[in-house]
Amino acid sequence: MSIEVKNLVKRFGSLAVCNNLNLEIPSGELVALLGPSGSGKTTLLRMIAGLEQPDSGSVLFHGADATFSDVRDRNVGFVFQHYALFGHMRIADNIAFGLRVRPRETRPSEAAIKKKVAELLKLVQLDAMAERFPHQLSGGQRQRVALARALAVEPKVLLLDEPFGALDAKVRKELRRWLRRLHDEMHVTSVFVTHDQEEAMEVADRIVVMNEGRIEQQGAPDEVYDNPATPFVLKFLGDVN
Ligand code: ADP
Repeated sequence: MSIEVKNLVKRFGSLAVCNNLNLEIPSGELVALLGPSGSGKTTLLRMIAGLEQPDSGSVLFHGADATFSDVRDRNVGFVFQHYALFGHMRIADNIAFGLRVRPRETRPSEAAIKKKVAELLKLVQLDAMAERFPHQLSGGQRQRVALARALAVEPKVLLLDEPFGALDAKVRKELRRWLRRLHDEMHVTSVFVTHDQEEAMEVADRIVVMNEGRIEQQGAPDEVYDNPATPFVLKFLGDVN
């Protein structure tokens, strides 16, 4: 599913949080929105998700205008930093949740759900944890479950907002590899918000550098790194978190 953002504007009061943004994300690409805190990354992601509506401009999914369509009709999966798992549910049930709450007409059989959950548990190498509860897992394992849960409904688009932000450096590094691996297997068009340039460089096919509601530069990681287009990009990429 390709995504296109056209002349997107969003203001909060007098602040233009997204200031005429244009972006094209081809189907199957993993794009990182990279920029400092307050640059508008999350707001852009929320508009792509349908959780927020723009003041003007449009969001197209596969060429069709989705700007004001309902979030439930967009077939998106989410992984957020604080999008906690259901504490009272076992890991397998957490992953199955999105399938079990579907209306009867589109809900898979319980046998099909079990099969899907088993596949996903294998994919994130947590087969042995199926019957455990979230509090019995490490932070990194929990985010792997969150990824599996988001992918269970076979979304056309996966949106990730600082999904590893709360974890320590070593676990973050491990999860980056997980995300890349899952992406390579599932080919889901993914948009990944981060303020961590190293993370963006390592994970993404393409990087979109944002600053004060504008796109400063976009391109392949090495392209952006080797040829920063503006003094802001040069400084931002040079800063160590
Ligand atoms: P980022 O994800 O890059 O940190 P955000 O999109 O979260 O940036 O926020 C960009 C700016 O918009 C910030 O200055 C933030 O305070 C402001 N903002 C975000 N959401 C709201 C809101 N609901 N009401 C008012 N201001 C907001």
